[in-house]
Amino acid sequence: MPAVNPVREALTSGRFCYMVELVASALTREAKLMHVASELAQIPNVVAGSITSYAGGAMGHDPIRVGTAARARGLVPNIHLTCVNRDPLDVRNALDDLMALGIENVFAITGDYPKGAAPATVEFAADSVQLVEMISEMRAAGGWPFYISVAVSPFKYTEADCAYQYLKLEKKIAAGADYAITQLGFDSRKFRELKRYLDEHGLKTPIFGNVYVLPPKAAQRMSKGEPPGCWVSKELLEEIQVEARAEDKGMAARLERAARIVAIVRGLGYAGAYIGGNHQADNIRWIIRRSEALAPRWEELAEEISYAPKGGFYFYDSPPTPPKPREFTQKLFDVIEPANTPAPLRTVLTGILRWIDNRPAAAHALEKAELAFKKPVFGCQACGNCVLGLMEYVCPMTCPKNMRNGPCGGTFNGQCEVIPEQACIWVEVYQRAKSAQRVDELKTFIPARNRALQGTSSYINYFLDRDSRPGHAQPLITIASATPASAPREVEEPLVKTHHAK
Ligand code: SF4
Repeated sequence: MPAVNPVREALTSGRFCYMVELVASALTREAKLMHVASELAQIPNVVAGSITSYAGGAMGHDPIRVGTAARARGLVPNIHLTCVNRDPLDVRNALDDLMALGIENVFAITGDYPKGAAPATVEFAADSVQLVEMISEMRAAGGWPFYISVAVSPFKYTEADCAYQYLKLEKKIAAGADYAITQLGFDSRKFRELKRYLDEHGLKTPIFGNVYVLPPKAAQRMSKGEPPGCWVSKELLEEIQVEARAEDKGMAARLERAARIVAIVRGLGYAGAYIGGNHQADNIRWIIRRSEALAPRWEELAEEISYAPKGGFYFYDSPPTPPKPREFTQKLFDVIEPANTPAPLRTVLTGILRWIDNRPAAAHALEKAELAFKKPVFGCQACGNCVLGLMEYVCPMTCPKNMRNGPCGGTFNGQCEVIPEQACIWVEVYQRAKSAQRVDELKTFIPARNRALQGTSSYINYFLDRDSRPGHAQPLITIASATPASAPREVEEPLVKTHHAK
C-alpha cells in the first residue's frame, strides 16, 4: 500500500475517480486476475480494484490473498469483507490480517446467502452495521486507518424496502462508514433520489455509483432477481437482447450504456463510478474517455436511462402509503416492554430475578416459560438478548440472516432473499414503526447479540445487565462457551469493545 491511499485521497479532494470490481470467483484463474490487476493499475484515476468475496453467494478465491497479490502489481485493493459462514472471531482475524498486510480499504457487507443452502443453516457473524461498528472501533483503538465503504441500494421499488435502505445507510454512516457504493441499477431517477436524500439529511458521505457493463446472460438472470438485489426491467432486457444480435454481440452498445451512466452519476455529484461486469483495461479506458465526452449531456441521458417497474415507489415523488392502524397487541406490548418498567418496579423485579438466577431450577423454569410464550407469538429462538421492543415486536431471529439493524440488500418487492415466498421481516418492522410514528427510532444502532446467552432468559439478562442492547452493548467478540442461565460465565477480556448508545 502506498503511503497515501488513493481512494481516500481522491474522495477527500473531491476528484472524480473510478473503482473496478474484480470478481474473485472460483471460475477465474488467479493468474488471470493478476494480469487484469497489472493492466488496471496503469489507468489514471482508477484508484482501486474492488475484490469480491462470496459474490452471488458462491465461494471464490480468498479476497485477501488476491488483494495482496493485486497490490504487488500496483493496484490498490478494496477488500470485500462479508459475514457469511463466519463467526465474529473469524471476522476479527480477517481484519487483523488486513492490518498486518497494511491494507486500508475494506468494503463491509453482510454478504449473499450461499446458493443452495437451506434457510437457518448458515451463520452470519454480524450484520453490516455491526461490522462497520467493529471495524471503526478497531480503527479507533488500534490506530490502523481502515477506510470503510458500505453498500446501499436505491433500486428498491416499494416504500418499506426503499426507506429502510436509506435508514440503514444512515446507521452505517453513524457507525463509521467513510463512503458508500450503490448496488447496480439502471434508473437515473433512483441515482438522483439517493443523492438528494444524503443532501437533505446533511450527509456529506461520498458515494460511488455502480456502473455495470451488462451482457445478455446477466441481464436475463437479473430480470428474475438473480443474484439477489440485482434487477433489470423487461424493457432493458429486450433492448440488450436486440443489441446482442450485432456482429460484436452487443459489446459496443453496452460500453456506451456504461459510459452514459458514468456521465450521469458524475453530473449528479457522485464521487466516483464503481465499474463492474467488465474489467478489461481497454474497455475501462474507453468508458472513461467516452463518459468525459458525454459529460455535458448528462441530464438528457438521465431521461433516457430510466428503467423502472410500473408504479414503482420513489421516495420523493410517490404518495406514501397510509399507515396501518396499530394493533391492540402492539400497544399492550409497549406497556409490558421491560425498557418501559418504572424505576420502583424495576428495583423489585431486579431483586426477584436475581433470586431466581441464583437457583438453577427456577432460572430454567423461567426460561422455559418465556420461550413457551414468545416462540409462538414472535418466533423467538431464545437468543437471550431480546430487542423486540426496538424492532416493533418482530424478532430478529426470524430473519434468515439474523439482521438486527435493517434489511439486507437482497429484498425484492418486500420479499425475503433467502425464502422468497416469505415477506422480509423488515417490512413489518417499518410498517409498525410508521403506524406508531417512530420511523426515526429505527435509526437506533442495535449491537450484536451476546452469543454466550443463547438459551437463557432474556428477562434475567436484561434486569441483571448481561445482555447486549443499545446503551449496553457487549463486545462483538467474547470467547466463551454457552453456559446455563445461572452458572457463572467466564468471558475473556473483549478483543473489541463496543460502547454504543445511539
Ligand atoms: S428477512 Fe429480509 S433482511 Fe432477512 S434475509 Fe430475508 S430479505 Fe434479508
